[in-house]
This record gives sequence, C-alpha cells and structure tokens, in this order.
Amino acid sequence: MFETTAAEIGANLDGVRAKIAAAAKEAGRDVSSVGLVAVSKTHPAAAVEAALAAGQTVFGENRVQEAQGKFPALKQAHPQLRLHLIGPLQTNKVKDALQLFDVIETVDRPKLAQAIAKEAAKLGVAPGCYIQVNTGEEPQKAGVGPKEADGFIADCRALGLDILGLMCIPPLDEEPSLHFALLREIARRNELAGLSMGMSGDYEIAVRFGATLVRVGTGIFGARPQPPQP
Ligand SMILES: *Cc1c(COP(=O)(O)O)cnc(C)c1O
Repeated sequence: MFETTAAEIGANLDGVRAKIAAAAKEAGRDVSSVGLVAVSKTHPAAAVEAALAAGQTVFGENRVQEAQGKFPALKQAHPQLRLHLIGPLQTNKVKDALQLFDVIETVDRPKLAQAIAKEAAKLGVAPGCYIQVNTGEEPQKAGVGPKEADGFIADCRALGLDILGLMCIPPLDEEPSLHFALLREIARRNELAGLSMGMSGDYEIAVRFGATLVRVGTGIFGARPQPPQP
C-alpha cells in the first residue's frame, strides 16, 4: 500500500496551515481563532509521529477501538497531544472513550449525554464536548436535528457537560456553506463559541463561515485505503 512519507505530511501540514491563514485573513479573522484537527483515522502511528514532528498536536479519530490501538503510546510519548473523537459513540464505549479522548465532538442524543456525564464524574475527568447537529436532516446520519438542537444543548448543560460548541458534517452533494451558516446561527443563539466544521474539501469555506476547528484528514495524510468491497 502507498503511504505518505513524513516529509510529505510536513509539507501538507504547511500547505493546510497557509490556506487556513489566508481564509482567516480574507474573513477578517485572527488565524489563532482557527484550530486544526488532523484526522488520522486508518493511518498508522508513524503518520501521527510525522505530524507531531511538524508541530501538530491535535488529532481526530472516528473509532474508539482503532484509537485504543494507536494512541495510548503516542500520548505517553507526547504529553501535549490532544485527541478528539469525531465518530459515533456507543454508550457501552463511553468509559473507554473518556480514558483516551480529551474532546468528544459527537454528542448527539440524551442517552449518550447522560452516560458521558456519569462516567466523567466516576473517572474525575471533564471532557470538552461538541454537540453534533445533523444540519442536512439526513436519516442515515448521526446528530441532533436543527429544531431539536436548542433543547438538547440546554439538557446537556443541565447535566454539567462542558459544551464547547457544535459540530456538523454537511451532506456530500450539497453546498456546504448553507450548512455552515445554519450551524453558526444555532451556536450564536445558544451563546456557544465553538464551531467544528470543514473537512479537506471545504475547510477554507468553513473558516470564512466562522469555523473554530477544521477537521482535515486526506489533505494532510493522503488518501485513505478503501474498505474492501463485499
Ligand atoms: C474522516 C473525517 C474527516 C476528515 O475527512 P477528510 O475529507 O479526509 O479531510 C473529518 N470529519 C469527520 C467527522 C470524519 O469522519
């Protein structure tokens, strides 16, 4: 399998950072207000090491089990590393997730919010949380519906969760800016500062619409191997 070299990962990171800076400048925003989550799912620990060597400290993974195989040793060797969960979380994996992830970006239903609050108290941790909003109201996609978001945000706050902001994954075949604007509006009326939005194909647009976190995988680590077809 072809793997992106450490030098390529460093150069890709420089390129992504330059594009974020240009988009921020164009939007009249301070570049330091935009964080970069390097999405390392399916890529080996060596790829994460290469990004760390190039100054990247925040990483995103979408599966608890895969992250458990890769990140405990990396976190031990690099105490500054911060890990975000960006994929769906089952309630029976919450304890495992909270032992490894610093931020959960995919809080999307009451049962999960309750489980996170309970396990966080038991473990004595205070994970940062983002609420995932299904801005496209796609039935197959995770996230609370736009109309349910205000109530769910209030419920999560009542549970004592540290809600940093909102996260969305726009529908593949739609103009992402409409979804970024909708997410920004829901965050504004709920007085939430964080907006996790924008991936390799649209992070510059997301920055113009106020993203405070962009999640970039392919643009840093190269293409992911396709899962085998059945
Ligand atoms: C995989 C993934 C990303 C990164 O996608 P790229 O297109 O490779 O940048 C971002 N966000 C989520 C939720 C993902 O699952």
